Amino acid sequence: MKQQYFLFLTLFFFLFGCTKKIVPTAPEPSVTIEERTLDPVEVTAPPIANNPEDYQLPKYNASYTRVHDLIHTKLDIRFDWQNEKVIGKATLTLKPLFYPSRTLQLDAKGLTFNKVAFEGQRENLDYEYDDNILTIDLGREFKANEEYKIFIDYVAHPAATGGSSAITSNQGLFFINPRNETPNKPQQIWTQGETEWNSRWFPTIDKPNERCTDEIYITVEDRFQTLSNGLLKSSKKNADGTRTDYWKMNQPHAPYLFMMAVGEFAVVKDTWRGKPILYFVEKKYEKDARAIFSNTIPMLEFFSEKLGVEYPWDKFAQIIVRDYVSGAMENTTAVIFGEFIQKTSEELIDANNESIVAHEMFHHWFGDLVTCESWANLTMNEGFANYSEYLWYEHAYGADEADLHRKDELKGYLSSSARGVHDLIYFGYNDNEDMFDAHSYNKGGLVLHMLRNLVGDDAFFKSLNVYLTKNKYTAVEAHNLRLAFEEVTGKDLNWFFNQWYFSAGHPILEIKYGYDAATHKATVTLEQTQDVEKSIPIFKLPMAVDVYLENGKPIRHQITMTKRLQTFEFDAATKPLLIDVDADRALLIDRRDSHTSEEYAFQYLNTKKFLARWEAFEALLVDENANADDVFAAGLNDNSWFIKMRALEKVDISHDDALKTTVANLAKNAKNSNVRASAMQSLAATEDKAFIPNIKAAIQNEKVMRVKTSAMIGLYRLDNAEGVAYAEQVKNDKNPAVIGTVGEIFAATGDTKYLSYFEKKWKDIEGFELIPFFDSYRNLVTQADGKTYASVIKKMKSIALNTDESKWLRVSGTKTLNDLREDYKIEMNDTADKARKELLVKRVDVLTKMIEEIKSNTKDTWLLDVYNYYQY
Ligand SMILES: [Zn+2]
Repeated sequence: MKQQYFLFLTLFFFLFGCTKKIVPTAPEPSVTIEERTLDPVEVTAPPIANNPEDYQLPKYNASYTRVHDLIHTKLDIRFDWQNEKVIGKATLTLKPLFYPSRTLQLDAKGLTFNKVAFEGQRENLDYEYDDNILTIDLGREFKANEEYKIFIDYVAHPAATGGSSAITSNQGLFFINPRNETPNKPQQIWTQGETEWNSRWFPTIDKPNERCTDEIYITVEDRFQTLSNGLLKSSKKNADGTRTDYWKMNQPHAPYLFMMAVGEFAVVKDTWRGKPILYFVEKKYEKDARAIFSNTIPMLEFFSEKLGVEYPWDKFAQIIVRDYVSGAMENTTAVIFGEFIQKTSEELIDANNESIVAHEMFHHWFGDLVTCESWANLTMNEGFANYSEYLWYEHAYGADEADLHRKDELKGYLSSSARGVHDLIYFGYNDNEDMFDAHSYNKGGLVLHMLRNLVGDDAFFKSLNVYLTKNKYTAVEAHNLRLAFEEVTGKDLNWFFNQWYFSAGHPILEIKYGYDAATHKATVTLEQTQDVEKSIPIFKLPMAVDVYLENGKPIRHQITMTKRLQTFEFDAATKPLLIDVDADRALLIDRRDSHTSEEYAFQYLNTKKFLARWEAFEALLVDENANADDVFAAGLNDNSWFIKMRALEKVDISHDDALKTTVANLAKNAKNSNVRASAMQSLAATEDKAFIPNIKAAIQNEKVMRVKTSAMIGLYRLDNAEGVAYAEQVKNDKNPAVIGTVGEIFAATGDTKYLSYFEKKWKDIEGFELIPFFDSYRNLVTQADGKTYASVIKKMKSIALNTDESKWLRVSGTKTLNDLREDYKIEMNDTADKARKELLVKRVDVLTKMIEEIKSNTKDTWLLDVYNYYQY
């Protein structure tokens, strides 16, 4: 599963400038640590309890106790769209796992039962039901391996049981536009099982350590397509005009991975190694389907080869649904994605969906074939899925691109860890859903990368092969992974798993350097300074250290840090130009380096790893005293598009003809469109009209919208009149990016005649793009006369309160009012003009009342969350 949560906050990061993520904090240590002195900090144990009663067992979420083994699930499903009900018949094949049993407990959340009986029997069995658990008396004791079949005729009403709209994600099954009340919105049904929510639409043992085969009959109106796990075995038209599709899954998988989707889709088909590869998209995206899911087949090929375990299932389908409650979900053979990935082929250039496609696909080995035994072990699913993104980037685009991705993964983990840490395998969580955090995902992936660096590539992939082969179709814990690695490498790895999987935190590593000219010895002093209350005090850290005595070739040393404070000594005839610690940049550490700006410049120009280059480049970017122009200029030719882009933002090319030529060349020829777009801005910043032809050429010839729009802004910067003239020329364009850019240019003119452009066009923009569009609008509103201003704020209020409008439009309305208010507050304090001040006080007052009115009349929880979070 990949949560949209992350994505939503990433978007808001640019928008509102800060992020929030709730990470459960680790409980107090439950063991008493002896008092000891560690050089140089003193570690004190938590207080020893006075009273024996004060000692408590730590909070422990055990794996589910298996009593009955669910072997097979057969479902017959139809829908009551009007009342949002699922009408189902389930036949479950079970047997006691080991101990004899006469009681069967099934998860069944909010179902009503018409019949609960042995298959083929008329008599109901005795059962009790508390709206969550169905407890059936089997009438006699069944022995281990004694199979039986239970038939359940039921009705599910997931919307009613899902509770408030705040927790729609727990609903399990979702009807979208069920009564066709919203025009231009498709009617759909789809499911979301993880963590334990599929039992809202069928009775099962809804636990990750259960697994069974399944078959599902889905009856729908003939205009709909259906999708479920496994293969479509038949599709029959019924006398009443409906159609019944029969999906069959021959290999066992966990109940949370079951899925159904119903809707009117374009289905684009490929074949790979004889298996169907299907893409379900909305009809207007049919021609873009392969671009949306780009490289699906090469990815299946790559992961199969790399793991030595061929993609284990009968088909691979990917579907995009409306109003999805997360980012994407790895339902076996039928991945669901939110609509945010549905874009045109042009929009997907240099902004493709490959990391999320890889993530969900890799789950088909790690998560679906071998499954975390309990949610405490979630990283056995998510750590691998996250690391697959690295593996794919490395394979398809090279190590620099993969490390750029890893940089963000590390940043995500470190920033979340500031708000609390817990063991990676974490039995003490409060709620299943809390496990879906930057530990299970980011840290899990980063730890795997360290493990790979530790044992070497061949051993790493061989060990994964052994792990998958030995544990296929079972539930796993981290120990299974350790044992596979130990079997392959012959090495004991308890220390590694204990510190990374079964302990909390990460090292904060302070690095200091020294040189003794008399003895010709260079030293590196490493100190782990992490908080011992939250993390283990000492991590064992094997790493490579590269010592550069001259340009180019370093001398490599392998060291292992085993103390909290430790000095390592190296022979060095002359003072090293650079000592590069953790030269592979493999460790999960919060690195605190003490290089001089000269050393960082050397590091940028001489080390090979992207993370080492970027670390040096970034240090120089923020160091105002550094004289690093040669480094920034060199950055224009960096192998990584990301560093190129940052260099373009930094380097002033206006007085250097050679640099101008380099940048003009990048604007035209750089492979990555982000670089071309930045180069366009860099050319415009010179204010050199000689570049107008270059920029016009880009406007004419560029296929990628972000470059084209960057050139439009560039043209305006170089020549206001020409820029506005071009904006006027394309103001009826339907492309949202063009509309947004025209708005930006119109706003820059300060001419309020353009207000009407915004008011006409905001209907043509959807989703997040509305936010910058309204920012431009607001800039222009501040220039308006009193009468116009009054009518604008009235409009914003009515948008914000109009429940027929999209959430993004509504939030844009409120945000505009709020931002105006904030602008006025600042101006109010700055202005010396008394009349102006009075006017501003009045406006702030009116805006505050308006925002209060909006808040108190808003019911939508998503909107309220946003308003609350940003303190409107
Ligand atoms: Zn995932």
